[in-house]
Amino acid sequence: MSATVDGAPTVRSPAYLTDLALYRSDFRSYLRHLDWSDEWRGAVHSSAEAAMAHGATVLARLYDAGWNRYGWPEHIGGLGGNELHRAVYYEELGHAMLPVPAQHWTLETLGPALIKYAPTLAAASLPDYLCGKQWWGQCFSEPEAGSDLAALRTRGTEDSRGGLIINGQKIWTSQGPTAARLLALVRTGSTDSRHRGLTMVLVDADAAGVTVRPIALASGRLELAEVFFDDVAVPATRIVGDINGGWAVAMHLMQYERGMYGYAVLTAALTELAHLRPQLSAHGASAALRERFAHTYIDVLAAQARTAKTVRSLAAGEEVGPGSSIDKLLFSKVEKEVHDLIFDVRRDQIVAGDQSCTAAARDSARAQWWYSRAATIMGGTAEVQRGIIADHILQLPREKR
Ligand SMILES: Cc1cc2nc3c(=O)[nH]c(=O)nc-3n(C[C@H](O)[C@H](O)[C@H](O)COP(=O)(O)OP(=O)(O)OC[C@H]3O[C@@H](n4cnc5c(N)ncnc54)[C@H](O)[C@@H]3O)c2cc1C
Repeated sequence: MSATVDGAPTVRSPAYLTDLALYRSDFRSYLRHLDWSDEWRGAVHSSAEAAMAHGATVLARLYDAGWNRYGWPEHIGGLGGNELHRAVYYEELGHAMLPVPAQHWTLETLGPALIKYAPTLAAASLPDYLCGKQWWGQCFSEPEAGSDLAALRTRGTEDSRGGLIINGQKIWTSQGPTAARLLALVRTGSTDSRHRGLTMVLVDADAAGVTVRPIALASGRLELAEVFFDDVAVPATRIVGDINGGWAVAMHLMQYERGMYGYAVLTAALTELAHLRPQLSAHGASAALRERFAHTYIDVLAAQARTAKTVRSLAAGEEVGPGSSIDKLLFSKVEKEVHDLIFDVRRDQIVAGDQSCTAAARDSARAQWWYSRAATIMGGTAEVQRGIIADHILQLPREKR
């Protein structure tokens, strides 16, 4: 055992790789003894930028102590282990009622695709992600291509050195305003090549020709961005997977976006409910509200049971494929349900703003509720997930369009 700069215990043990329960209990103990956990737990952010900056500090500290490095391979700055370690990590943050640093949402989505399809690039760039020095955005959606990604038009033209010159526009890039890099899916095949003509690239957000314009959400927060590419030169070393092989990379990524990310979202939802429960008791909740709380709690657990299966499959190296659409459908509906419940229990605070809550806390609660509205849109809409389930899992007769 050694000590971190915080004085809290830290253990880096090869035993964690085979003994998940030991990793869990030692991480739990670490969190229990952390002298800055109250500050982490109670932090209220007045902007998306402030939330990201705080998340970066938390990640740096956890990285220093080693805990968030389990579940990630050593060549990208991890300490080994697999998705199960990451699931335990999120569960223990939830157990300690600590919020998940926002960087994890994009890391869980983008990291695995880079590790599988561009290991050298992953080794060079992901350590900075893990320790909070930078985070990235996912540039798939375009103004004319969201649900139908195979229709995207941002163009990648091969240059003489095997790299690409990128031109076009992306939109709705989460964490885009502060992202250091952008994982972009671009068209390298003919206009009608659909999913067969796409290539994945990793572009620096400050590269010549990249313009990032923040988008203010309903809450006023700059959480998303639109990104313009004007003759952006991307070297061959920044191509993820094969030229025209971007669809396979995107499909691998989506399993994580719908499964692993979903598991983490649901542990965060349980934390929200744990924070809500004492408020429910304090305000003498009606029987109907208590019943709704119980139903919501069970819905979260049911969705989590489903995503846990996906996490186990991913940890075993299995391809989950269209099955991850079930996860996405379940966790996105539950996310909204949880935030609707929070809204109804804390209505006086969130809508009017009463004495029990600071203006910053009220704004933050409002922003969270607004953001939860997008749960069934981002990462593929609920309708699209239902379509995938109908076509690829239930094999129902094709819908006439
Ligand atoms: C908060 C938020 C964060 C996001 N983050 C990112 C990000 O980081 N990176 C990124 O690339 N994108 C991101 N997106 C974009 C998101 O992936 C798209 O908004 C989503 O895929 C839907 O695409 P669209 O907005 O173009 O809507 P459209 O595809 O135009 O859909 C419009 C409507 O038609 C329905 N529809 C479309 N096709 C079908 C179909 N085949 N069957 C049934 N109904 C259909 C949809 O369900 C929807 O109701 C984000 C979006 C939001 C709101």
